[in-house]
Amino acid sequence: MHRLALGDFELSIFSDGTYPLDGGAFFGVVPKVMWSKRVAADDRNYVTAGLNSLLIRTGKQTVLVETGMGNKLSDRMIKIYGQPAKLLDNLAASGVAPEDIDIVINSHLHFDHCGWNTVRDKNGKIVPTFPRARYYAPEGEWQYARRPSERDAISYIPDNYDPLVASGHMTLLKGGEEIVPGISVKTFPGHTAHMQAVIIQACHPEEPSVGDEGPGRAARRPSAEREDRNRALGTHPHTACYISDLIPTTSHIDLTWGMAFDLYPLQTIESKKQYYAQAIPEKWLTVFTHDPNTPWAYVEKDEQGKMVTKEAE
Ligand SMILES: [Zn+2]
Repeated sequence: MHRLALGDFELSIFSDGTYPLDGGAFFGVVPKVMWSKRVAADDRNYVTAGLNSLLIRTGKQTVLVETGMGNKLSDRMIKIYGQPAKLLDNLAASGVAPEDIDIVINSHLHFDHCGWNTVRDKNGKIVPTFPRARYYAPEGEWQYARRPSERDAISYIPDNYDPLVASGHMTLLKGGEEIVPGISVKTFPGHTAHMQAVIIQACHPEEPSVGDEGPGRAARRPSAEREDRNRALGTHPHTACYISDLIPTTSHIDLTWGMAFDLYPLQTIESKKQYYAQAIPEKWLTVFTHDPNTPWAYVEKDEQGKMVTKEAE
């Protein structure tokens, strides 16, 4: 069980299981002689990818970042990926029911990130899996998903989001919004044009929550006071970031180790640089969406300038 306190928030990882991905596709232009030192491939050249969701308990809301692959894959997709569909069971094992989730955030709308947004009810109708939740996803991503390129059309399953947009359950984000006090999104282009990371900035338990200053404080941008305060505190981790497919596993922390799936590989490099410029000096906890073993860690630069990960407690 991966769980830690981030200021006055509690963070835990819940997995939807693992699935096979072609090692070459996972590591792009990186030669197999290099990536196979970090991860093992089977005799078909597949490596194991995880499906990590992040649950945040703020004390007021329960927020689920990403919903895995879900249980609505076509027979063809199941042949390729299987259908682990473990997220709801894993949540239930920790006493979290679908009704407990107040907010769901999708970094982007590829099928392996928003699959449990919806389920089919007994009549075959698509309904929200988390009946009380407000859902959030990047608007540009949704616009793109309506007419994806031939290259990644297979990655978009409209039943995961279109019914939620139509019913008003899903709010589309421009990027930069604060969704609840301390939880905001930021666009990092590269994997797709509009993918958004989720940034979690908690207050220290002894500090009054900046978000408690009354209605109207549901700001549309992260609080500068909160950032300053967190920087000043400096002891425990105060910021975590679900960086999603920009840095999908601990094996992808080097700037040039991007996935072949990335639509804009040069932007992936720029976005990683931008992320590290803040995340490394401020000691952000990075959450890795597809790492089957290490769902979160601190990324650091060693004396040789090489990217390394440092384990979270
Ligand atoms: Zn993706």
